[in-house]
Amino acid sequence: ATHTETHGFQTEVKQLLHLMIHSLYSNREIFLRELVSNAADACDKLRYQALDNDALYGNDSELRIEIEHDADAKTITLRDNGIGMSRDDVVANLGTIARSGTAEFMKNLSGDQQKDSRLIGQFGVGFYSGFIVADEITVRTRRADLDADQGVEWKSRGEGEFSVADIERAERGTEIVLHLKDDALEFADEHRLRNLVTKYSDHIELPVRMQRVEKDEEGNEQIHWETANSATALWVRSKSEVSDEEYKNFYKHVSHDFSDPLSWSHNKVEGKLEYTSLLFVPGRAPFDLYQRDAARGLKLYVQRVFIMDDAEQFLPLYLRFIKGVLDTNDLSLNVSRELLQQDPQVDKLKSALTKRGLDMLKKLAKDPEQYQTFWNQFGSVLKEGPAEDYANREKIAELLRFSTTHTDSATQDQSLAQYVERMKEGQSKIYYLVADSFNAAKSSPHLEIFRKKGIEVLLLTDRIDEWLMSHLTEFDGKSFADVAKGDLDLGDVENEEEKKAQEETAKAKEDLVKRVKEALSDSVQEVRITHRLTDSPACVVLPEHEMGYQMRKMMEAAGQ
Ligand code: ADP
Ligand code: MG
Repeated sequence: ATHTETHGFQTEVKQLLHLMIHSLYSNREIFLRELVSNAADACDKLRYQALDNDALYGNDSELRIEIEHDADAKTITLRDNGIGMSRDDVVANLGTIARSGTAEFMKNLSGDQQKDSRLIGQFGVGFYSGFIVADEITVRTRRADLDADQGVEWKSRGEGEFSVADIERAERGTEIVLHLKDDALEFADEHRLRNLVTKYSDHIELPVRMQRVEKDEEGNEQIHWETANSATALWVRSKSEVSDEEYKNFYKHVSHDFSDPLSWSHNKVEGKLEYTSLLFVPGRAPFDLYQRDAARGLKLYVQRVFIMDDAEQFLPLYLRFIKGVLDTNDLSLNVSRELLQQDPQVDKLKSALTKRGLDMLKKLAKDPEQYQTFWNQFGSVLKEGPAEDYANREKIAELLRFSTTHTDSATQDQSLAQYVERMKEGQSKIYYLVADSFNAAKSSPHLEIFRKKGIEVLLLTDRIDEWLMSHLTEFDGKSFADVAKGDLDLGDVENEEEKKAQEETAKAKEDLVKRVKEALSDSVQEVRITHRLTDSPACVVLPEHEMGYQMRKMMEAAGQ
């Protein structure tokens, strides 16, 4: 090896390494999933680039992954003949974390091991997870378009620094040698490795090959290479052949999540559109759900060839939590991110997948407990739906859950259908109240008359609620009414006698109204006698078409 340089890891990498080693001890085996995943990605990338440049295959066109172990040397070696890395690639990819939101993520770490391990799980550990089991890692690699003398060797003990050197490397692709820590020697075992390979790579379309040692008649050891996984892409198999366990493991592969998905939907469609989709609803929100530039979208394949990660054109933003794979025959193999924006097939696929996504949620909603988990994690994202996707707003409205005066609990678990079912005779509107917090909503004087009459009111306290309500015009033929705005029309719930009594009171109190108005002068537009209240003496009401409190605050915060 020549031209050896030593580099320090980026600060974030050092922090991640430290945390990972201390927090992920009980989940150590995931290092294999991450490294196999990278090897598979590298082969996918080569196959994609070779579409325009067949020469990249050289004389070795059978893409594969190999895993070897040596208990005496305390090593595990993973090898792929994928795209490989140049010296610059190595320094950038195996020395930094290039993901958006990394600093934000680091700030959220608390030092509490359990909490942090969950966060790290959501963040994704990738290549560095090798250091959970290894006290030294050596990477030898060569990029497919470079010559044999442009190989690179990367070495690190996972502490503060790593070295890179130039090497001669005949084969393209990457070899990773993990030197196991003494307490991780269990992984240098044929049986253990084979189980992990089946668990984490059965669904990968590439063969993962492992050695089997056999004794021949004379007692000499013979080594055979054999394929240890079934090596068919999971989504290509028919639903009935795939077990729940396999779906769950596949989800972890595509999402880098540690925990199980809540549900999934696997569909093969033929006809005008031809595609296979496998969509998942995660069990919890990723740390960057609300970050604009966060990675989102599906893994895109065209005719089984991997094209790109995070293809975000196939789902609307309000379904950005959905993970999975789209494999289609309707796009050309040389499609790029730029071309996707112009291709009319993309819109058709997007509307088909949006429908699949919404149907998957509708199905999930049949299990209220599971759905609640979903709602607590992703409800406020789904609330962006009616504004973004007018055509599907009815479907989205069915999926919304609210906190209401019926339960008087902060838990958002009541559907609009349930509200409508409980509506009073003669009630024609769905009433709601927007406030800053559940407690403020619950004790709002605006609710007094509703409580007295037993009319249910939705209690909206999420930042996005007012935005949502400005796009939800009706549900099941009933319009929505903000109880803090305009004239209060309780429809036929009020009888004639009550109305008459109200008018009489208003007349009798005209004088009082006049005096209050003079006292408040310019601070209010109008003073009225109201029947909204039963206990409080007075409350503030906004005109019908005035911007609500939340919107005003948002505008003020934005400097308007
Ligand atoms: P991610 O896979 O999410 O990008 P990783 O930490 O797993 O993050 O890997 C970092 C980067 O290192 C990859 O994006 C890839 O560019 C590079 N890399 C890792 N393993 C390999 C490999 N076997 N072959 C080629 N490149 C690799
Ligand atoms: Mg990776």
